[in-house]
Amino acid sequence: MYDKNNIFAKILRSEVSCKKVYEDEISLFFYDVNPIAKIHVLGIPKKECADFSDFVANTNSEFITNFFNNVNYVIRLLRVDKTGYKIISNSGVDGGQEVPHFHIHIIGGEKIDLKI
Ligand code: AMP
Repeated sequence: MYDKNNIFAKILRSEVSCKKVYEDEISLFFYDVNPIAKIHVLGIPKKECADFSDFVANTNSEFITNFFNNVNYVIRLLRVDKTGYKIISNSGVDGGQEVPHFHIHIIGGEKIDLKI
């Protein structure tokens, strides 16, 4: 069940502000308020989906492809494709997900001390 009151839903409705990196009709990318590295950007689809599995299972293929192409566009926009990066999506309790709207973390700008 999607929680319409989660903070990212509020950002998408412009009820809460964010530091925007890129936006189009299907997605929004913005800086994480609590960065774990010099570059820490979050990418979210403009669709009510709680996590990765919900997004992939309940979204048409064209939208999914466009979203992940946008993730790659932002990776290049941030120039971390040259230096390296991590992309992470947390899901549920065991995944440590805090905000129940599917999102991708793009982390880079320095060596990331996070081994998985
Ligand atoms: P997760 O644990 O994958 O759900 O990560 C949620 C992320 O959202 C955390 O890294 C938070 O620092 C970040 N976050 C929470 N609220 C905001 C906000 N209003 N603007 C930007 N980032 C946020």
